[in-house]
Amino acid sequence: MGSIIKDTEVIANEEAFFFQSNRELIEEQREVMAREGREQERKDARELHWLKCPKCGCSMSQVELAGIEVESCNECEGLFLDKGELDFLVDRLHAKGFFASRRDRSTHPYE
Ligand SMILES: [Zn+2]
Repeated sequence: MGSIIKDTEVIANEEAFFFQSNRELIEEQREVMAREGREQERKDARELHWLKCPKCGCSMSQVELAGIEVESCNECEGLFLDKGELDFLVDRLHAKGFFASRRDRSTHPYE
C-alpha cells in the first residue's frame, strides 16, 4: 500500500494518460470530419457546376472536335477543354492548319 502522495501521483498519471488518449482520438476524429467535409464540398461543387459554362453559367453539351469530345456552351458557344486536350489538339491539328484556318475566319477583337 503506497503513501497518499504516491497514490496521488498514480491518479495524476492515469488522468494524464486518458487526457492524452482522448486528445488523440478527438484530433483523429476532427481530421476524419474535415476530410469528409472536403469530399462533400467537392461533391456538392461538382453537382452544382457539372457541364455548366464557366463563362456564362448556362448548360453545356459534349461535342466532337477533331476526333475528341469537348464541352460546348449551348448559349455562348464557348468551348471547354479538359486537361491535356489543348495539347492534343495542337499536336494533332496544327500541322493540318486547323488553327491557321480558325484564325483566318476569326472576328475576335484582339486578333
Ligand atoms: Zn457560356
